Amino acid sequence: RHDWDLGIRGSDEIAQLANAIRRMSANLQQYKEQRRQFLADISHELRTPLTYMKGYSEVLHLGLVQEKQDRDRYLQLLYHQSVQMQRLVEDLFELAHLEQDSFKLTLKRVSLDKIIHHALELMAGPLDQKNIALSYSPSPTPLYVEGDDRRLHQVIVNLLDNALKYTPSGGEIAVSTSQDGHLAIVQITDTGVGIPHEELPRIWERLYRVDKSRSRATGGTGLGLAICHEIIQLHHGSIAVESEEDKGSQFRVGIPLSR
Ligand code: ADP
Repeated sequence: RHDWDLGIRGSDEIAQLANAIRRMSANLQQYKEQRRQFLADISHELRTPLTYMKGYSEVLHLGLVQEKQDRDRYLQLLYHQSVQMQRLVEDLFELAHLEQDSFKLTLKRVSLDKIIHHALELMAGPLDQKNIALSYSPSPTPLYVEGDDRRLHQVIVNLLDNALKYTPSGGEIAVSTSQDGHLAIVQITDTGVGIPHEELPRIWERLYRVDKSRSRATGGTGLGLAICHEIIQLHHGSIAVESEEDKGSQFRVGIPLSR
């Protein structure tokens, strides 16, 4: 072996190393930017209800509202804003909890049909109130998944709740289950407002909403789908969406079957 041989190999390796370092620092930079953006978004989300709450309580405290009816309305608005803020803080805690390295699911063999029934029971009242028809077509053979039933329940309720929020009165929601290889599939289809094609990849991001005012008006925090995504990833499953604006959306969740 000649010295110059070593030399060439050496500089090649150095170039590779330099490239790797450049990639790592670009990733780190991207991570820092995402973190900064997330903190800015949270601060904004918390500031909005706080500003309203401060304003309403000041007006009430200073006795500026004469009519009892108006005072009651302000108190109601104050209550509504605090509920919204509580939801946001709870969802943030939940996401932080799920993202901890030490977080572990409680996995066991659970009946998918049971989880869905339970979720549908919870949603029956609100669906009825909004005059939205619901159908459920379970797979002909019962499906059992390897899952954390509390967390899976949370995913199904979240998706049903979104379908309810983003579907106008008189619409329809269809739930079905089936098997695809080693996965149990749950499909939740609505005839709601849909999601513009270019927004689809972003809906799983924390705090991302297509229409902030609509989401807020329906009590949304913009964290529901990020939580669903995290829970399904922890199950080594899959979650995907297809949607067409003004036609509706279909969310498809795959959960590993229990052997
Ligand atoms: P939010 O609390 O705002 O509903 P999510 O994380 O659950 O937050 O959803 C993110 C965004 O994705 C929503 O704000 C909404 O724009 C869109 N979205 C979610 N589900 C649906 C659906 N079934 N139909 C239409 N848009 C939806």
